[in-house]
Amino acid sequence: MRVHDTDLYRHLLGLEKPWTIDRVSLDVAKQRVDVFAKHEKPKSWPCPECKTACGLHDHDEERTWRHLDSCGFQTHLHARIPRVKCTEHGVRQVRVPWAEPKARFTALFERFAIDVLRETSIAGATTILRITWDEAHHIMERAVARGMARRPHEVPRHLGIDEKSLAKGQHYATMVCDLERGHVIDLAEDRTKESVRRCLGRYSINDLAQVEAIAMDMWEPYVLQLRAIVDNADEKIVFDRFHIVGHMNEALDQIRRRENKALRAQGDDRLVGSKHLWLYGKENLVKSNANLATKFAFAELRAANLKTSRAWALKESLRDLWKQPSRAAGERWYHRWYSWAVRSRLTPVKKVAAMVKRHLPNVLTYFKHRITNAGSEAINSVVQMLKKRAFGFRSFPNFRTAVLFRCGGLSLYPATHPKLG
Ligand SMILES: [Zn+2]
Repeated sequence: MRVHDTDLYRHLLGLEKPWTIDRVSLDVAKQRVDVFAKHEKPKSWPCPECKTACGLHDHDEERTWRHLDSCGFQTHLHARIPRVKCTEHGVRQVRVPWAEPKARFTALFERFAIDVLRETSIAGATTILRITWDEAHHIMERAVARGMARRPHEVPRHLGIDEKSLAKGQHYATMVCDLERGHVIDLAEDRTKESVRRCLGRYSINDLAQVEAIAMDMWEPYVLQLRAIVDNADEKIVFDRFHIVGHMNEALDQIRRRENKALRAQGDDRLVGSKHLWLYGKENLVKSNANLATKFAFAELRAANLKTSRAWALKESLRDLWKQPSRAAGERWYHRWYSWAVRSRLTPVKKVAAMVKRHLPNVLTYFKHRITNAGSEAINSVVQMLKKRAFGFRSFPNFRTAVLFRCGGLSLYPATHPKLG
């Protein structure tokens, strides 16, 4: 069957001179539309590199691009791309207005696919778009490469550095965020000095001297690397309160597990099932959807003479450090908390207390810069979700692509209909 309304397709595809539609064929059984483009004979074609007007050399083999469906019918565009012979660049394919070089989809299709991929998983997108997993992933890769190439060179004032465990076991990634603009700058495999250097690779030493503050965890390799590449790093590094409270929560959980085991051996089940209640911040527990009976039972547990409740009180109290009015007040406050912590006879808590004490100058830098990694919480929840979708992330490059696609603050769309000249 032939469709004669070639004008409609010229508009739908946004073809412009010298391109036009030759013919359109419709296969109802296969639910497929094939659109064949042709071109008039312009006086010259621009070289794709230098835009110099060149004569037509020849045509390449016919190629096919998947386009947006027409009324549910898969639509494919066909054309033979002209080649020019530029004195400077030799024989080259000219740019076509509907797709980027080497793409298998039209720019409008890729644009739509990017919108779909932003809203759903790759698996979901393959069903909606009727493309393969590899095609969907390739569209994301191209979008990220495009976005990274276009990203303006802006030096972040506030950096956030985070480590992410990628899977059970010792597989880590380092993620660097621009805390003000709220996007991920880059990720690198591992959590070594080299990982940080790679994430910040786009910046010169002069650029990095302009960074004002860096929120991060107390992780020696990161510190060493930052001292090497950021001017005055010791004034700028802020050991982040979310990380520090996170360490306290780990200590608390360790204590709870041990105590629970000991109590159960004596037939005492009080701590069973209470794990998350201890890890909440006090004010969040009140707001949580735990029922009233649970909340009362937990209040009783907190008041009981348990190691876990002592550790909890220390954890909750530590959070007040960051509410102190000044650096000097914060320092005094910490020394009081520290002597309470070391007398607690709770080894995991004492370890955290000693670690914070060792790093105290760069914990107290908070009072100068007032930054935390909390700003990247939105990013973290997306990263968490991407990690849960186990697909494909057996490889680090796939994980990096997925994170930058969602959280890189990148301009991802292909240029539609670039001018030919
Ligand atoms: Zn040229």
